[in-house]
Amino acid sequence: MIPYGRQSISEDDIEAVVRSLRSDFLTCGPEVEAFEKEFAAFVGAKHAVAVCNATAALHLAMQVLGIEKGDRVVTSPNTFVASANAAAYVGATPDFSDIDPKSYNLDPVVLEKNWKPDTKAVVAVDYAGQPCNMPEIARVARSRGAYVIEDACHGTGGSFQADGRKWKLGGHPWADITTFSFHPVKTVTTGEGGILLTENDGWAATARLLRTHGITRNPSEFTGLSDSPSSSCSAISPSQSDIVVQSSAIRDQSSLAERGPWYYEMQELGYNFRITDLQCALGRSQLKRLPDFITRRQEIASCYNQAFSNLDWLKTPALAPWLLSPAENLISWHLYTVQIDFPRLVKTRTEVMQELREKGVGTQVLYIPVYLQPWYRRTYGYAPGKCPKAEEFYSRALSLPLFPAMNDADVQKVIRSVLALED
Ligand SMILES: *Cc1c(COP(=O)(O)O)cnc(C)c1O
Repeated sequence: MIPYGRQSISEDDIEAVVRSLRSDFLTCGPEVEAFEKEFAAFVGAKHAVAVCNATAALHLAMQVLGIEKGDRVVTSPNTFVASANAAAYVGATPDFSDIDPKSYNLDPVVLEKNWKPDTKAVVAVDYAGQPCNMPEIARVARSRGAYVIEDACHGTGGSFQADGRKWKLGGHPWADITTFSFHPVKTVTTGEGGILLTENDGWAATARLLRTHGITRNPSEFTGLSDSPSSSCSAISPSQSDIVVQSSAIRDQSSLAERGPWYYEMQELGYNFRITDLQCALGRSQLKRLPDFITRRQEIASCYNQAFSNLDWLKTPALAPWLLSPAENLISWHLYTVQIDFPRLVKTRTEVMQELREKGVGTQVLYIPVYLQPWYRRTYGYAPGKCPKAEEFYSRALSLPLFPAMNDADVQKVIRSVLALED
């Protein structure tokens, strides 16, 4: 069976992990730092914070931007649930804006038209690896005081042309924070893993702090106990404040004397979102292979495009008009999703998937519009009809196998099996 997506692990990848296993650090060691540095350099970002998965990275993005209860966060309905769940984790309301029927990404025109004033962030998802119209989305969001988070989990290594130059996803100025996933079906894998990228020093520092319980061991960051009395003094009467100042002086002295190398402070309520050295060793090795991965993904996508170009019951993925000119874009094609006119084939999608499976071709439906999920309907009252373009896309969507380890025979087998659907 050819699955719809699968990792590619080389002997070099295996050796990198084994080397890490033999080293002194299984976690919080040099591989994590090196992976972050190399990834940041690769995409052209100032800071990279690697975490245990991209869901955690999205959660941290919400938290460092101060998104909270009472805020609205708008994302694409055509995504994995994690893009929206992150907003719910911090108590904000996830909301959904419809896609454009060409790229299947957030439509900036619809986003602007339906804008609600309590929207504090937009999560732009690069579906299948095709970059969203980030300059336009950023214009709409920022002019209304909202942040832009780019969920580029499908787009590792992708780039687009804008403002007269090429920009890598994760390294352009139209996203405040970008996240990538390293799950095995994604372009680069660490088993489980994710990364958060930003240019902002403060956000990166907070993300690092929250990644590990909100605990710091860095003396230059210590606040000690001396911070609280001055702020609390104003809230109490003068006679009481003397006592507070006196007792805080005693507490200060004892804490200063006791700050040995073992000392640490928990300054915020954080999490254990750490990634291991084993995972980052694999990530560093995979990162070296990323250009080859993308080349192969593009080759396979163009084979499919050619083979399926003349079918009146199947539509191949199209580039968004804003990407077409100039054609200097590098789409990493995480997914190859076609639109099938099932009534025309006189077969249901389930029958088509079954027929392909019997021929050894695995397929997947990506995605059910997130707001149609039971929890979203129950919690926010969302109902069918909210984003008609995303619902229409979903009713026809089928993702075919696409991963770099597919050989030419695999690709031909998929093509033959799909063409035979009309027999
Ligand atoms: C995979 C994925 C995620 C979540 O990534 P994990 O690393 O599995 O947590 C989030 N958003 C999108 C669009 C994804 O495809």
